[in-house]
Amino acid sequence: MSYADDRYYKNSGAVPLGGNIAMLGIGSVAAIVVGGIYSIIAWYNPFIYVNFLLTLGFGFALGFAVSFASIVGKVRNRMFSSMVGVLVGLLGLYVAWIMYIGVVSEWNLWLFDPAQIFQVMNVMAEEGVWEIRGAAPTGIALWSIWGIEALVVLGIAFFVATASDSPFCESCQMWTDDVEGFLLLADDENTPVLKQQLEEEGYDSFVRQADMPIDPQKHLKLTLASCPNCEESDYLKVEQVTITIKDGDSSESKKDLVKFISIPHEFTNRLIAIAEQKVAEIDAETSSTLAGMESEPQEFGSAAPVADAGTKVDEAAKTDDDDPWGDADRDRP
Ligand SMILES: [Zn+2]
Repeated sequence: MSYADDRYYKNSGAVPLGGNIAMLGIGSVAAIVVGGIYSIIAWYNPFIYVNFLLTLGFGFALGFAVSFASIVGKVRNRMFSSMVGVLVGLLGLYVAWIMYIGVVSEWNLWLFDPAQIFQVMNVMAEEGVWEIRGAAPTGIALWSIWGIEALVVLGIAFFVATASDSPFCESCQMWTDDVEGFLLLADDENTPVLKQQLEEEGYDSFVRQADMPIDPQKHLKLTLASCPNCEESDYLKVEQVTITIKDGDSSESKKDLVKFISIPHEFTNRLIAIAEQKVAEIDAETSSTLAGMESEPQEFGSAAPVADAGTKVDEAAKTDDDDPWGDADRDRP
């Protein structure tokens, strides 16, 4: 491991007891509620294709519940969260089968023993329980459908449940606040140098790069993650953004150039000052353009959402759209 590797954020892998309880508690409640509702809708809804979407939603809901709990519970171990997602997925499937047998038996048969549930599933598989295009799948076909259904639920729960990849300040025990895209820079022949300098703690080239003209279709997007409580945990993410326009539709592709590298707080302030200066320049341009035109300025209101950026760092950030220093921009799966 080189010195540069050491400067990139790595999560501690910590799973606090509270986080564990939150994931299992919230996950179990979600499994019971969503698993029960899933089977009722699956049985009464006649549209088989809607049921497929329902299966995706089932896995997503369980994964989201675990992911939410992992963020609240300060879990910094993405694999652990994913494994809890699978566990909650299994519980959800178990509840769904209890409920399914309940509804299919017209609310007469309630089995909780997995062995008994399995026996009833076998009987259902022999006789078939529903029809598609006039044919009722039975035997291996029906078992395969159930197997795919289970894999879809568990797979989605695994991927969605993963914990936040935002940096965490270990000394303050807090997630950092992420401000995505607070500054855009030109992506040109200097880009590899910027990465290298950042790893070697050289920041002047960044400041110079801010003066280069930006190509809207190919640029660098900077995301800042800073601890709201101290000045020791500041991280910078740089993504290479390419926007391609095809048949009138634009699509954006992003590639991590630098993923959450530690930077000194002074450099954070410098970057914010540059961002503020750019906002002020855009403001000045907008107002001079408006002054030169004799139309109502209100129509251009949407072009200047950053007009209120103040001189103070925190206030400038808070007046930006959607409170980007708040929790809303934290990466959630
Ligand atoms: Zn801190």
